[in-house]
Amino acid sequence: MEEQWIYIDGSFVPKHEAKISVYDHGFLYGDGVFEGIRVYSRNIFRLREHLTRLYDSAKSIMLSIPYTMDELISIIVETLNKNQLTDAYIRLIVSRGIGNLGLDPASCSNPQLIVIAESLSIFPRELYNTGLEIVTVATRRSRSDVLSPKVKSLNYLNNILVKIEAGLAGVNEALMLNDQGYVAEGSADNVFIIKGKNILTPPGYVGALEGITRNAIMELASRLGYQVKEEPFTRHDVYTADEVFLTGTAAEVIAVIKVDGRVIGEGIPGPITNQLLEAFREMVVIEGEKVPSVNENATVS
Ligand code: PMP
Repeated sequence: MEEQWIYIDGSFVPKHEAKISVYDHGFLYGDGVFEGIRVYSRNIFRLREHLTRLYDSAKSIMLSIPYTMDELISIIVETLNKNQLTDAYIRLIVSRGIGNLGLDPASCSNPQLIVIAESLSIFPRELYNTGLEIVTVATRRSRSDVLSPKVKSLNYLNNILVKIEAGLAGVNEALMLNDQGYVAEGSADNVFIIKGKNILTPPGYVGALEGITRNAIMELASRLGYQVKEEPFTRHDVYTADEVFLTGTAAEVIAVIKVDGRVIGEGIPGPITNQLLEAFREMVVIEGEKVPSVNENATVS
């Protein structure tokens, strides 16, 4: 196997040498921000949207990213080229950096940037054809007025608890409700339900991250003539939907065929989900920003 190279502390190191200090506040307290970005056939999907979200998350937690957007793009491109990847998932992490044991980020002077690029499929590949069985879990989404879901921080305990409950229930993914019982999202993906020609997804204030894949699917669905609405809905609406699917950079677009034992529609990925999945697969290749090869100028305009 080829060596995997990780960008850390200003240079590329082999995966087994990519280590951070135990005093990094990203490790001690989840103090930092991150992004997950996909590359399809050397096209980086919605790169600037992801980076804008990264900078916005950082601004919100008063973390100053010591790189311009163009510098970050160059590092991402270099990471892809160094690892010779055509299709990849990129994880971009900016932690508060090394400080003392106290919570106060004032003790951390240098934010740490880490870039990892590798192949990733978070669900077994065959489930993209057959659909997922999921459950709803007891863990509630943290209130959006307490910790805004717009901040994509390293604090993912809420989501990890969902994943643990999903595992205990013997399924790959689960939905969490918000404190009022409305459906919020999956552990790391957004949820959509389809009833007739209407497509619904929970609005941000319910507790959903306004995902970049979610935005892309909303655009595609409107273009294809469906009524797309951001509207709160309950578990009952999920159980009685014609189709249900999840979206996310890591998850991509995946049909849900059973929720809490209730079969959704015909129990197979529905026609609108399949149509959207197809349109999404086209979009990611057409719309992405081409990664320059090693010989070309390493910037993406
Ligand atoms: N919700 C959560 C909690 C997530 O972590 C993710 C993954 N970033 C998503 C939704 C999907 O967002 P995106 O499509 O931007 O990856």
